[in-house]
Amino acid sequence: KKIILSGIQPTGVFTLGNYLGAVRNWKTIQDEYRCYYFIADLHSLTIQIDPAKRRQQTLQAFALLLACGIDPEKSLIFVQSHNPCHAEMGWLMDCCSQFGELSRMTQFKDKSAKHPDNINAGLFTYPALMAGDILLYQADYVPVGADQTQHLEFCRDIATRFNHAYGEIFKLPEGYFPKAGARVMSLQDPTSKMSKSDTNPKATISILDEEPVILKKFKSAVTDSEARVCYREDKPGVSNLMTIYSAVTGRTMDEITAEFEGKGYGDFKAAVGQSVADELRPIREKYAQLMQDRAYLESLMRDGAERATRIAAKTLTKAKKRVGLLLEK
Ligand code: ATP
Ligand code: MG
Repeated sequence: KKIILSGIQPTGVFTLGNYLGAVRNWKTIQDEYRCYYFIADLHSLTIQIDPAKRRQQTLQAFALLLACGIDPEKSLIFVQSHNPCHAEMGWLMDCCSQFGELSRMTQFKDKSAKHPDNINAGLFTYPALMAGDILLYQADYVPVGADQTQHLEFCRDIATRFNHAYGEIFKLPEGYFPKAGARVMSLQDPTSKMSKSDTNPKATISILDEEPVILKKFKSAVTDSEARVCYREDKPGVSNLMTIYSAVTGRTMDEITAEFEGKGYGDFKAAVGQSVADELRPIREKYAQLMQDRAYLESLMRDGAERATRIAAKTLTKAKKRVGLLLEK
């Protein structure tokens, strides 16, 4: 089986964007591939979060993956910092990343604009750590949202460079873009993507939001004054709602336009909200159940850490040897 690897940061409850753009697909590919999924807590250190909250969110993210249908019998699930190989490999990757190429990363530009008071070195070298995450497991495919394709390209560049300099070690990973993947935009500013770390709660749907909250957020989603449901570049708000509705119901844009012909945005928003609420309800219920059994979650984490470390250590040792680190005998 081909290897799939992907991660998600414990920076808050997953959004509808994380779900429709990433985690929902992670679930569907579990039988076909050998899947490794991790909670990227090291990456989350690039953003300021209260330590107790970070711990809580890490446990929560782990439970959310399970609640979304990631099955620990099929997939390897672990917390990034539980496997020390990531930090070590990250440093090797840092040392073959160039300042110029890292400066061109749009996520770095976006996030440093958002947090001008904390433009830390980790935020800058984020793509190098991410490259290490992927290369450690010799992943064939990396399912990422459109916001991460530049980082994946960077990972391939580094792997190629490393292989050239030190001999073939790393497999070159490819992006995996499922047909049903969706890029979900903010409900309040439909030209920027929906993000967990967004501080405006009206802009994001959290996958743990309850039905009335979901309906209300969709009701106040930004649209336009045309009152026509159609997918067009100059209608980012309506197009975003259509993307969501299409991803949840499987209907095409044309079918959606036909469905709401002659109806107002009120009906449209209510239908989108209802479809999302129905989709998320079972996840919320499963999550509540899982959080009651902390011992179970912790034992899965221990097991995941152990297996992930065993796999990653092989590649790490090889890479260390090749760059000329004198290994202990
Ligand atoms: P943060 O704001 O902390 O960066 P995030 O919402 O961007 O959080 P990540 O943990 O960075 O989430 O990314 C997890 C996965 O979700 C990645 O595969 C990413 O491509 C995907 N993703 C994130 N936001 C969206 C979105 N709005 N639409 C579709 N996919 C998304
Ligand atoms: Mg992100």
